[in-house]
Amino acid sequence: MIDDTLRLFFALPCPPEQAAAVCAWRDDQALDGRAVSRDNLHLTLAFLGAQPREHLDALLQMAATVHAEAFSLTLDRLTTIGKGFICLQPASTPPALLQLAEALSERLAALGVVLDCRPFLPHLTLSRQARSRAQQSAPDFTWHVDRFVLYRSVNTADGVRYDELGSWPLLP
Ligand code: ATP
Ligand code: MG
Repeated sequence: MIDDTLRLFFALPCPPEQAAAVCAWRDDQALDGRAVSRDNLHLTLAFLGAQPREHLDALLQMAATVHAEAFSLTLDRLTTIGKGFICLQPASTPPALLQLAEALSERLAALGVVLDCRPFLPHLTLSRQARSRAQQSAPDFTWHVDRFVLYRSVNTADGVRYDELGSWPLLP
């Protein structure tokens, strides 16, 4: 059977320089679980799941209508959420990040895409399937968030890969 859906999510990519610093620190911590690859580090804004391929144009057009402000994001807490996801989280969430996630959620709802009912939880996953739990401070990993991205998640023999389908600037 042909699967004509795309597994989609909006996210903030972790820029290469910060991703390298995060991974260098993460690898020193000898965290439990399966490490997320450096190229895959991101903070999910909205997870759409499987969407019909023909909805892609409408989603790209919708994203272009989001006018949100750029902001500085500091991840400074090491936590475990859900079933063993060890993450970096912001001790304090920038209002502009909440506004961006909210703007996407509202526009997605208008297109008939219903998101998970759980509240938005900003996190950057470092390791999965961990059995131990982390709850501590981390060094400040900060970057200037000036764009958001629509990714397609693709499962491959080498693990999951995220293809960038669109990128939109945030307002300076
Ligand atoms: P894999 O599931 O293949 O191990 P992955 O979790 O990185 O890899 P996806 O499942 O496609 O890939 O998820 C893409 C992003 O969306 C990840 O950040 C994931 O945590 C998030 N995500 C996945 N499912 C949900 C969901 N039901 N609600 C919210 N976010 C989700
Ligand atoms: Mg997953």
